[in-house]
Amino acid sequence: EPVIGVLALQGDVREHLRALAEAGAQAVPVRRPAELDEIDALVIPGGESTTISKLAETFELLDPIRKRLADGMPAYGSCAGMIMLADRVLDGRPDQQSFAGIDMTVRRNAFGRQVDSFEVPVLIDGMPGPEFAAVFIRAPWVEDLAEGVQVLGRVTEGPAAGRVVAVRQGNLMATSFHPELTGDHRVHAYFVELVRKALVESADRP
Ligand code: GLN
Repeated sequence: EPVIGVLALQGDVREHLRALAEAGAQAVPVRRPAELDEIDALVIPGGESTTISKLAETFELLDPIRKRLADGMPAYGSCAGMIMLADRVLDGRPDQQSFAGIDMTVRRNAFGRQVDSFEVPVLIDGMPGPEFAAVFIRAPWVEDLAEGVQVLGRVTEGPAAGRVVAVRQGNLMATSFHPELTGDHRVHAYFVELVRKALVESADRP
């Protein structure tokens, strides 16, 4: 089974570890650069992207993670993790850094302060079963994306209907919402499957 790291600087690390284990991966927390050598893929949890950014610099993880992503390591980010995987961030702190990788612009806290957290159905492309009961907490949305970025999901109802909240570009994926906080692990299962395929493909390469 693939070994998937969860970036354990801040945020809902434990929930991702559990969801990944239930989706059939070996899940390990990652805090030090050397631990990156032991993982096949990385999950960046929800939390606070400004804090994750700062701690990633302090722990000297920013460049090593950028390098692994550039080398094709699969990664999945939820909420703050989505922000960390975005090439461009709106309404971020001026000194906020991202790992980047997905050619999109995200807007932090996009749904507005009045609606700090809410649950809304999201339809996810390529995911069997009913709509996802997606939990949003001071979430970003995808404001703009390049041609190579695949839309996996949009909000289906309410004032934000139509907003892009799940994307994939190659081996990288991101959601505005937190599937790790619900019992529905279809997003994690989708990612574990993506990682399995990426491992087979890289083993096939001469
Ligand atoms: N608003 C947070 C940020 O900008 C994200 C919130 C979350 O991950 N639930 O990083």
